[in-house]
Amino acid sequence: MRAMLLEKTRPVEENPLRLAEIPLPNPAAGEIRVHVRACGVCHTDLHIVEGDLTLPKLPVVPGHQIVGTVDALGAGVKEFCEGDRVGVPWLYSTDGECLYCRKSLENLCERGRFTGLHADGGYAEAMVVPAAFAYALTGNFSDLEAAPLLCAGVIGYRALKLSNVQPGDRLGLYGFGASAHIVLQIARHWNCEVSVFTRAESHRQLARQLGAVWTGAAGEPPPAPLDAAIIFAPAGKLVPVAMRALRKGGTLALAGITMSALPEMEYQLLYQERVLRSVANSTRDDVRSLLRLAAEIPVRTEIETFELPKANHALQSLKNSRIRGAGVLVI
Ligand SMILES: [Zn+2]
Ligand SMILES: [Zn+2]
Repeated sequence: MRAMLLEKTRPVEENPLRLAEIPLPNPAAGEIRVHVRACGVCHTDLHIVEGDLTLPKLPVVPGHQIVGTVDALGAGVKEFCEGDRVGVPWLYSTDGECLYCRKSLENLCERGRFTGLHADGGYAEAMVVPAAFAYALTGNFSDLEAAPLLCAGVIGYRALKLSNVQPGDRLGLYGFGASAHIVLQIARHWNCEVSVFTRAESHRQLARQLGAVWTGAAGEPPPAPLDAAIIFAPAGKLVPVAMRALRKGGTLALAGITMSALPEMEYQLLYQERVLRSVANSTRDDVRSLLRLAAEIPVRTEIETFELPKANHALQSLKNSRIRGAGVLVI
């Protein structure tokens, strides 16, 4: 089968992914094989190919927003039948027994494994995954539209939950890529008043189109102090900027897997019970809740498609904020 393989991490401008012919994987007991139709492109993929994360496996096939159909079942799989449409997200497996798994925090599992990092992902014609970590995709979404829900949507949803935003609240979003454009639709569904901080005019336009009440640059004051805010951009210097826009008792959630160093800031920005917290991975419950909510609203994902062999190009566009909404590989 064809796959975009990462053999050595390099800046994405040097085209680190190579189109390769690799053996079709076979599902082990408890696993399914997914014939991939679409795979979303995520900032984490960029961090993986450029070596910002420690890679447990090389070569590796990136990609963790996978939509496809089940085309082979390992022994003992009861959850799915051949031909079922499924989605595969970032969380690939957990040990089910560590302190975190027992506390309903499987996103923090001591032995958690992730799709497209510990196991080959969706920048390929097929991949295998434990059936317990794949999800039936029933909503009224095309394969391409569904792909960004699986990470951009799921992580955005978890960040939204951890930001403690309540219906009707004022929410601020810093950075406006794939995740933020989904979060904005959920927040609007909850009647939140959403302000979006982003530089690119095309991103501001899309935000207003999706119901943002205000768009501007980070550092400009929003119309009123925010009850909650989420930073999607990996820029630590935004933290004091966003803290300054929060009301007393408000929460700032950081949605990225990496971020540049946080600058020193006055205690006054945190005092008065403001909360600053990160968001890491997601649980299976997050995935199920997000998929249900996205079908109910319904969330409309804005996508830009790329052919599989153009994966390097897709990541370059992502790096330069040239994608409106979410990038998706067509396989
Ligand atoms: Zn665990
Ligand atoms: Zn992701």
